[in-house]
Amino acid sequence: MALANAATVLWKAAQEGILPDPVLTVSEWSDTHRFLSQRASAEPGQWRTERTPYLKEIMDALSATSPVEKVVFMAGSQVGKTEAGNNWIGYIIDNCPAPTLAVQPTVEMAKRNSKTRIAPLIEESPRLKAKVKDPRSRDSGNSQLAKEFPGGILVLTGSNSASGLRSTPIRFLFLDEIDAYPGDVDGEGDPCGLAEARTRTFSRRKTFWTSTPTIAGRSRIEREFTEGDMRVFELPCPHCGTFQQLVWEQMRWEENKPETVRYKCAHCEEEFEEHHKNKILPAGMWTPQNPEGKWRSYHISSLYSPLGWFSWKECVEKFLEAKKSDEMMRVFQNTVLGMTYSDTGEAPEWEVLYHRREVYPIGTVPKGVVFITCGIDVQKDRLEMEFVGWGKNLESWSLDYVVISGDTAGDEIWELLSRQIETTFSTETDGLRMPIRMVAIDTGYRTQEVYRWVKSRSALSTMAIKGRDTQNTILGLPSPVEMTVRGKKIRSGIKVWPVGVSVAKGELYGWLRRKQPTDSDEPLPFGWCHFPQHPEEFFKQLTAESLVSRIVRGYQKYQWEQTRERNEALDCRVYSRAAAAAVGADRWDADRWAYEAEQAGATLTGEMPNTGKRPTNQIKRKRSSFL
Ligand SMILES: [Zn+2]
Repeated sequence: MALANAATVLWKAAQEGILPDPVLTVSEWSDTHRFLSQRASAEPGQWRTERTPYLKEIMDALSATSPVEKVVFMAGSQVGKTEAGNNWIGYIIDNCPAPTLAVQPTVEMAKRNSKTRIAPLIEESPRLKAKVKDPRSRDSGNSQLAKEFPGGILVLTGSNSASGLRSTPIRFLFLDEIDAYPGDVDGEGDPCGLAEARTRTFSRRKTFWTSTPTIAGRSRIEREFTEGDMRVFELPCPHCGTFQQLVWEQMRWEENKPETVRYKCAHCEEEFEEHHKNKILPAGMWTPQNPEGKWRSYHISSLYSPLGWFSWKECVEKFLEAKKSDEMMRVFQNTVLGMTYSDTGEAPEWEVLYHRREVYPIGTVPKGVVFITCGIDVQKDRLEMEFVGWGKNLESWSLDYVVISGDTAGDEIWELLSRQIETTFSTETDGLRMPIRMVAIDTGYRTQEVYRWVKSRSALSTMAIKGRDTQNTILGLPSPVEMTVRGKKIRSGIKVWPVGVSVAKGELYGWLRRKQPTDSDEPLPFGWCHFPQHPEEFFKQLTAESLVSRIVRGYQKYQWEQTRERNEALDCRVYSRAAAAAVGADRWDADRWAYEAEQAGATLTGEMPNTGKRPTNQIKRKRSSFL
């Protein structure tokens, strides 16, 4: 509350015109007062805009002297995107104080950003240090997530906190890495919209939206960029002087020799080397491709990175590496080229998958599996589920596909499900037993029944999920939900995790389309999927959808459409994948995989409580609805 009051007082002061705006621009201020710390920068010392000439116009549009209200910046990594935002914050504190909000994808990231970026920004620049009180001193009014300074306050928050995004009015808003924000925060809608609403009372507000993009048609920054005036940075060719945007298609190198990289001018077709950047970067200029756009929007790739930051050679190396998998190509496209990635989304052919089935027995765990997940789809008269084993490089094995029949409005089927989930699987090699590490169950249908079942289980091994098409990541941040008990809504104590079903389907289809290596020495591609002798229907359901492009209200949108009547096997696999993401497997490095494998082995050798009989034998179930 103290913060809210302080901000209100400052807001009034600003409204009454007590604080005149300065004449400096953000780039001028940075060149004079911004110092880069050794802690946070590879190039410590005085900030020099001339190192990254393309940032000048962007930063100056953020200056109080500019009438521009909204600036969008879609960029690859290593171009100084974050520093531009930090310079703006420094400028605000020193020169143009007002209530300011800086949003990171999560509150945790906001805390980290405060520690690793904002604290050094203030600490290393004497002008700022004099204005922001040391948070260690009493009554400084400062904490990790709030920095007071004469005439203003900087509040840091995460896009996953609805309460952090509403409260007091703000004049300046910095939305960083918006493609990592959830589609909806605490059921209150789009976090960007929530934050933006807070700037409405200020007539001279400014907002800065930045991100590395994600997947085409689902990327927020791409949408914001294309609705803006779409500026690209054009440089003159050292040979013919023709201005052009640096694009990946014009890079040339000798096969497997990244060090030979050169740029071929699209006009005169002469080639030039990277060191020419020193001369041509300062001569560059931003050119709008969509002059009618609603706001300023900029796009730049890592090909523009100044010498010494990220070289063309490194770009080519990353590209050659990325050719190994769709997923790495997506990362290359997003982080190096700063562009969205178009997944074709074409369904893999079910026959191909059917013919590459393997001979490991259904219900046993082949070598390589480190943990098991289960994804459950809820229908009116049955529960369908797939058990999936996961290994290093997200290699996966379908272990079993089970359908439990019964009315999902009744109690009995849920008891059967509990017993099914307690099944342990025996390993192929030594017959030891492996339990299920994480269960993900869809809450889209029979929501209350699903909540009740999830509540009866440990949150450490069971998660309630909800498919979200707007979600940019496979797994979003969970939010608490209410349960209805005897007609009353009560706090359930359970959380629902949003699952980016489109992202997960795109990833799965990318994996399923991979070709099996012809040479047996060659490693399997990342995300390789193994299948036992499942019937044809399983593979038909798994490939039952495709990503199609539609024009919706004038914009191209991608959406998944069902091409077959039934798709439960696909849904179950997506939920199993979400469970693997919840376990954390996407972030594990080689050491962690080794550790997890060892742990799984340790559990198998007797620390796991022996439940005696195998529950699968006790319950009535059809093995599979396909049969
Ligand atoms: Zn040329």
